[in-house]
Amino acid sequence: MTEPTEPTAPQPCSPCRGTGRLVSKIGGTEHEVTCPWCDGGGLTIAGHDAQEAGAALRAATSGSTADE
Ligand SMILES: [Zn+2]
Repeated sequence: MTEPTEPTAPQPCSPCRGTGRLVSKIGGTEHEVTCPWCDGGGLTIAGHDAQEAGAALRAATSGSTADE
């Protein structure tokens, strides 16, 4: 299993699946928000603080995580 990796190739953003948008459910209401991980670009941003983004997202979702 030696697949060549391209370090310069941008990775699709996992949390938003490359859509650049996430659906957050606040109080049972769905809100479409810009993905904090990729800032809406749909691609993982190198050096982007995902933990900080996650904290911001969790604050927005009031602790309710929609994990499939
Ligand atoms: Zn994203």
